Amino acid sequence: MHKKNIAIVGSGLVGSLLAIYLRKKEYTVTVFDRRPDIRNIKFSGRSINLAMSVRGWRALDAIGIGEEVRSIAIAMDKRAMHVNGKEEYYQYYGEEGEAIYSISRGVLNRKMITLAEEAGVEFRFEEKVWDINLPEAKLYTGETEKGEWKEYQFDHIFGCDGAFSRVRHKMQRRSRFDYEQKFLNTGYKELSIPANEDGTHKLNKNSLHIWPRGEFMLIALPNLDGTFTCTLFMPHEGEHSFEQLTDETKLMAFWQKYFPDTLTLMPTLVEDFTNNPTSALVTIKCFPWTYWNKVALVGDSAHAIVPFYGQGMNAGFEDISILIELLEKYEGEDWEVIFKKYQEERKPNADAIAELSYRNFMEMSSKTADHKFLLRKKIEKHFADKYPKKWLPLYSRVTFSHQPYSEALNIGDEQARIMDEIMKMDNIENCWNSEAVEQKILAMLEA
Ligand SMILES: Cc1cc2nc3c(=O)[nH]c(=O)nc-3n(C[C@H](O)[C@H](O)[C@H](O)COP(=O)(O)OP(=O)(O)OC[C@H]3O[C@@H](n4cnc5c(N)ncnc54)[C@H](O)[C@@H]3O)c2cc1C
Repeated sequence: MHKKNIAIVGSGLVGSLLAIYLRKKEYTVTVFDRRPDIRNIKFSGRSINLAMSVRGWRALDAIGIGEEVRSIAIAMDKRAMHVNGKEEYYQYYGEEGEAIYSISRGVLNRKMITLAEEAGVEFRFEEKVWDINLPEAKLYTGETEKGEWKEYQFDHIFGCDGAFSRVRHKMQRRSRFDYEQKFLNTGYKELSIPANEDGTHKLNKNSLHIWPRGEFMLIALPNLDGTFTCTLFMPHEGEHSFEQLTDETKLMAFWQKYFPDTLTLMPTLVEDFTNNPTSALVTIKCFPWTYWNKVALVGDSAHAIVPFYGQGMNAGFEDISILIELLEKYEGEDWEVIFKKYQEERKPNADAIAELSYRNFMEMSSKTADHKFLLRKKIEKHFADKYPKKWLPLYSRVTFSHQPYSEALNIGDEQARIMDEIMKMDNIENCWNSEAVEQKILAMLEA
C-alpha cells in the first residue's frame, strides 16, 4: 500500500512533535525549516521558558516521551507574589501535587528534533518555504523569493510555521478565508537572574514569581542551572513604557521605584535591557485551517495567542492529540473528513483560549495584588475544597484538566456571575466562609 508522503513546514515545538507522531504511524515525513538546526546553535546564556501543563503532557506521554521531558522541567506549584511594601507570599495553583512545569523552549525543541530524527524523520534545515500549491500539495523552497526554487510533491502538507505562517499566507489569498490579527499595546523583554555561586536558585525555585504593577509586570521562571528567565511585560508607549526607558539613568530610576527588591538579584539588568529586543504580542485568528484533504495548519500558524495563560504550546500540542485521535478513528477515510472534523473541533477551543489568555493579562498584572480579588479567590477555593464536584476553578479547568477550552470559558463565565453576586453580599469580608455564602452559591448553582 502506498504509504503517505508528508511534509511539515516548521521544526518548532509543534512541527517536531507532529513529525514524531506521524513517523510512528509509518508515514514518510520531511520537515522543512528556514532556520539552521537549533542543536548546532549555542544558546547565548538566555533561554525562553514555557510553562507546560496537563494538555502538553498528555501529548508527550501518549508517545512515550513525557518522562524524558519531565527530567528537564521544574515543577512550579504556586505563584510567588512580590507586591511592593509586602512580604513575598504564595498563591497555590491547584490541589496538592498539581503544578505547571518550567521548561526551556530551546532545550525541549532540541530534544524533540533528536527524537524525531531517531524515529526516521528527515529534516531539511535552512530551507525556506516560499510558496505552496494547495490543491496539489506541492511546496517550493529556495534561497530567495525571487531566486530559483526547488519543487517538492507530497500527499499532505502541515503548516506548523508559527504565527507568521507562510502556509497560511497562501490560504489567505483564497476567497472566504477569514483572518484577524490584533497586536497588544503591551510588549515584552527578556531579562535574567543568575544562579548563586554554588549553583542554587536565588529565589524559591518551585514558584512562578510575579511582580504585578498594574499596567506592567515582571515575571520569573526557574531554569535547571539555578538561573531564572525573567520577562518584563509593559506597554510600548505611554507613561510607563518601553519608549520611556531610553537610557541607563531612566531605567535605574524606574527599577528603583517599581522593582527595588530585584536590583541585587539582577546584576546584568542594564546589559540585558539594552541588548535584548523588545518584542510584540499578537493574537491571530483564522478560518478555515485546512484545504481539502491536502493542507492543514497546526499550532501558532492556526491560532497565535498572547502568553498570559501559558497555553500557546499546550494548545498546539492538544491540536496534535486531537488530530491523531481523528486519524485513528477515521483510519482508511479520505483525509478531507479528518481535516474537517479537526478544524470543527479545534477552532472554537482556539478562540476560547485566545479570549482567556487576553483576560488573564488583566488578572496577572493588576488583580493578583487586589484584596477584593484575593478575597474572591479565597471564597472560591473554600467552596471548591468543600464541594470539589460542584466547583472547579477556571484556572484549574484550563491548566489541570482536559476539558475543552470553550466549555471551560462558558463555565468560568457562569462562575464569575455567581461570584459577582457573592461579592455584593453585606459584610462579605467577615462572612466569606459562612453558611449563608455557601447556601447562596449552592442555590445559584442549582438555578
Ligand atoms: C513570551 C512568550 C511566552 C510564552 N509562554 C508560554 C507558556 O508558558 N506556555 C505555553 O504553552 N506557551 C507559551 N508561549 C507560546 C509558545 O511559545 C508557542 O505557542 C509555541 O512555541 C508555538 O510553536 P509552533 O511550533 O506552532 O511555532 P514556532 O515555535 O513559531 O515554530 C515555527 C517554526 O517554523 C519555521 N518557519 C517559519 N516560516 C517558515 C518558512 N517559510 N519556511 C520554513 N520554515 C519556516 C520557524 O523557523 C520555526 O522554527 C509563549 C510565547 C511567548 C511569545
